[in-house]
Amino acid sequence: MRMFQVCTCGEPLQVSEAETPQPKGTEVLLKVLAAGVCHSDLHLADGYFDLGGGKKLSLAERGMKLPVTLGHENVGEVIAVGPEVKGVKVGQRMLANPWIGCGNCAACRRGDDNLCRAMRSLGVFIPGGYATHMIVPHPRYLHDIGDLPPERAAPLACSGVTTYGALKKVATLKNAIVVDIDDAKLAQAKKAGAKATVNGKAADAVQQIMKLTNEGAGAWAVIDVVGSSASARMGYDSLVKGGKYIIVGLYGGDLTVSLPPIPMRALTIQGSYVGSQHEMKELMELVRAKGLPDVPVATRPLDDVNKVHNDLRAGKIVGRVVLTPAA
Ligand SMILES: [Zn+2]
Ligand SMILES: [Zn+2]
Repeated sequence: MRMFQVCTCGEPLQVSEAETPQPKGTEVLLKVLAAGVCHSDLHLADGYFDLGGGKKLSLAERGMKLPVTLGHENVGEVIAVGPEVKGVKVGQRMLANPWIGCGNCAACRRGDDNLCRAMRSLGVFIPGGYATHMIVPHPRYLHDIGDLPPERAAPLACSGVTTYGALKKVATLKNAIVVDIDDAKLAQAKKAGAKATVNGKAADAVQQIMKLTNEGAGAWAVIDVVGSSASARMGYDSLVKGGKYIIVGLYGGDLTVSLPPIPMRALTIQGSYVGSQHEMKELMELVRAKGLPDVPVATRPLDDVNKVHNDLRAGKIVGRVVLTPAA
């Protein structure tokens, strides 16, 4: 098998070869058909998250060991199964839920692997899909994609379930207003069904958001999929009384807020990390029933991974890019 790995933090990924593993116990071996590239992969390659104020959260301290094969948005074809595997057949095309916990703690027992304190996430702590082959530890993390194109299903594993998990934290869902700093991305959001769009670079972006929500009083909920100091400031400042600011993105930075307005305006600040086992299952059922959203998806060969990372870092990618390792 061939794979691309982080060998030194901050350096381009390096190609490597190894014997293709044989699945043991409950393991399933996939030939990787599609591996989505996610913005978090840039942080994983850098080796840290920016905590703001010059502080860093080191991924090595959180248990990431190098070299690591990245890629946490994967669809693969089952090519072999371990002797204890039930309910999965060779030839099935499966989405791998990468958000795998220890399996034993209280969070994992209720299906909240994403809240486990000893996560073994695919493409973070154990080898992911920037590779021709990958091992998934247990069939419970696999979801049959049926007739869906692998490259369009793959992003559901992170960007899809992360957004779904955040949306579930909003009590009442109304029309979405999309904020971005790139007009090309805003045009795509409009095409995909956004009620309105706001360019976050505008000096009056907060006022524009407020004008569009609750008769000028502000947004009932803001989902921040960037998670930078600037996006957090804008999101938090756009809330109506009783509103909720939900932070999902890991771009990095910090937010300073005055305390009295939190109780006086009954505001909620909530984090949302990827999705639970139940949310992944619900999302797959939703996609099977309603079809995939109209998000632009481009495919690139596995060997282009470093170029794709550079494009992503430069903000040049509209929608998602998915690598096709088995092609
Ligand atoms: Zn656990
Ligand atoms: Zn991701």
